[in-house]
Amino acid sequence: MTHCHCLASSVDMAHRNIPIFIPHMGCPNQCVFCNQRSISGCREFRIEDVTQQIEAALATISEGTETEIAFFGGSFTGIDRGLMLRLLDTAQTYVRAGRVDSIRLSTRPDYITPEILSILSRYSVKVIELGLQSMDDAVLRASGRGHTAETARRACRAVVDAGFSLVGQMMIGLPGSTPKNERATAREIVSLGASAARIYPTVVFYGTPLWEMTERGEYLPISLNQAVDRSADVLEIFLGARVKCIRIGLCANEDLVSSEEVAEGANHPALGEFVWNEYYYRRMYEALAKQGLLGKDVVISVPFADVSKAVGQHRSNVIRLLRNTETRVRKIGGDKTLNRVVPAQWQPQQNKKKEQNDSVSEITGNAGL
Ligand code: SF4
Repeated sequence: MTHCHCLASSVDMAHRNIPIFIPHMGCPNQCVFCNQRSISGCREFRIEDVTQQIEAALATISEGTETEIAFFGGSFTGIDRGLMLRLLDTAQTYVRAGRVDSIRLSTRPDYITPEILSILSRYSVKVIELGLQSMDDAVLRASGRGHTAETARRACRAVVDAGFSLVGQMMIGLPGSTPKNERATAREIVSLGASAARIYPTVVFYGTPLWEMTERGEYLPISLNQAVDRSADVLEIFLGARVKCIRIGLCANEDLVSSEEVAEGANHPALGEFVWNEYYYRRMYEALAKQGLLGKDVVISVPFADVSKAVGQHRSNVIRLLRNTETRVRKIGGDKTLNRVVPAQWQPQQNKKKEQNDSVSEITGNAGL
């Protein structure tokens, strides 16, 4: 399984993905939640378009940016072998020409074999993303995944042992899934050596088996609040283990997840932001409680890029801290010296600005990756 990854071809300033979507090609499975054409947004796929897509993306990328061609949207190593090789050859010509640095792809765990890994290692494939979804056999069965958790474990180990960087994709709210086994899945992804993760709360698309299960009352979609809480639980596990979280929720791009195609489930364009807000609320609450600062006036410093995540949508975290704990947050500011690579650690800080009111306490923290 490979959920879509945002068409916006970016990860950060210095790194860009050029996503090439290969919808459902070669996939004989029918995972209950999958409407691959909706998810990937590609109504048609033509190999002739690939070069054009790469050229168009390259034209927008400045020199010196680390660039990756990323085959997403299907089960890349399960597609017709000749087509897979042609796509890899195409990507490799860009690597050889020095115009692209590496290749990235996503696939299912049961399409990882020693033979496939040896083919991939002949190309400049650096990252392999595996659609793991759950490490619980009952959940995998109920979701029609068609592979076991043991297959997923073996695939993860094989990918890491072969020297590729592993990204684990997992889902929240699958049939039979609980917050407990989602946390266990995240812990397994960490222990299997993933360097990054993607979290996808389950969305019910019209026409999918999951939609039929929902209609029959056999499946209860998760609410937005449940999705946020449960995603924040696993985000804590990933970040606590220094595993980056590179995506939460399906793409907000309306072409990709059109509301007409979504019947139920947590499909909010700001879902990822809500999860980060929740994560930061927990971190701030914890730090304030630990330092006996709940109910006081405080100034909080977070990594520069995370200020809006900590403040929350419409200042939700500031309001929540006030309402729930009577803590008055005077300011949540960015601190360039804080590095997101350091896992969550919050310490009281000396009040540097002496002119500041002494009754205002400062805390500073790294929220993780
Ligand atoms: S493996 Fe499942 S989710 Fe992935 S493309 Fe096939 S049916 Fe869809």
